[in-house]
Amino acid sequence: MITRSALIWLSRQEGLKDFATSFGFFKKLTTRFVAGENIDEVIPFIRQINSENATASFDHLNESVGSAAEAEQEVLEYLDILAKIDEQRIRSNVSIKLTQFGLGLDPELAYQNARRVVVEAERRGNFVRVDMEDSSVTQVTIDIFRRLRAEFGLNTVGIVLQSYLYRTLADAQELVKLPARIRICKGAYNEPPEVAFPEKKDVDANYIKVMQLLLSSGTYHGIATHDPKMIDATIEFAAREGIGKEKYEFQMLYGIRRDLQHQLARDGFNVRIYVPYGKHWYPYFMRRLAERPANIWFVMKNLAKG
Ligand SMILES: Cc1cc2nc3c(=O)[nH]c(=O)nc-3n(C[C@H](O)[C@H](O)[C@H](O)COP(=O)(O)OP(=O)(O)OC[C@H]3O[C@@H](n4cnc5c(N)ncnc54)[C@H](O)[C@@H]3O)c2cc1C
Repeated sequence: MITRSALIWLSRQEGLKDFATSFGFFKKLTTRFVAGENIDEVIPFIRQINSENATASFDHLNESVGSAAEAEQEVLEYLDILAKIDEQRIRSNVSIKLTQFGLGLDPELAYQNARRVVVEAERRGNFVRVDMEDSSVTQVTIDIFRRLRAEFGLNTVGIVLQSYLYRTLADAQELVKLPARIRICKGAYNEPPEVAFPEKKDVDANYIKVMQLLLSSGTYHGIATHDPKMIDATIEFAAREGIGKEKYEFQMLYGIRRDLQHQLARDGFNVRIYVPYGKHWYPYFMRRLAERPANIWFVMKNLAKG
């Protein structure tokens, strides 16, 4: 049985990435998790999500870019997304990754690039979520976010924290003081026991602690999970503390637990769907397989169906 860490390791192999993305055959496998190759293909999906009473977050897939020119293309893509959201009156914000804007080349370049997108989001009354990547960039991501947040409003830029990291509760305690809008998720990368809880039960327990801290802070946060236990714990805590449904949102990934997405929206909760698209789907797709290796059989079955 192929393991989670083996799949995450595969997600980082550049050679495989180039191989997989250059064949249309492999692309067919991804359609459950990736909404399309370009923004115009994705907009109808977002409209559908909006019509089902949920909002969205666009994610243009491309991480760890290799040059400033590639990072520049990513900035232009996001400026285009923000324009399209505005012009076409779609209910969506955007999620960015700092390695997509050149963090691996030069943190200052990533900051300047992210800032350009945040400036445009502010101008258009939209919101930019800075995704969290692996633990080698946690601190620099928080530092860049703090610089952005010092300049832009609470409702213009937010960040993500991961409950598998030991440091996250302390980070959340500091960031809520800014205040800051935080998305809490469990975390999707391979992390060593020096920095992250190895056991799922501890990741879950920490998730609940951070969720409670966020909900109690009075700021509008994102509770990102497909785990019914985390969702129930959130709903119960909010009910016990008298925190209304409008004070937070649930967030889920495109293509995962659609039943739960619909149910929560029907029950009157705010639901946001994270919608990834683009040609560089390989690492994202492999992380989704890693979360549930049974997905391998699901994609193979779909492939066999043609
Ligand atoms: C909106 C959103 C944004 C995210 N942003 C980030 C980020 O910035 N940084 C980061 O590190 N991680 C991010 N993640 C990923 C997250 O860290 C987890 O890896 C992922 O959400 C799986 O954790 P879970 O909470 O669903 O719980 P789990 O305990 O992993 O899963 C609970 C249940 O959900 C279902 N499920 C979960 N994953 C899958 C899947 N891939 N396929 C099918 N079913 C599945 C299964 O039924 C499973 O039993 C994000 C997740 C969401 C929903």
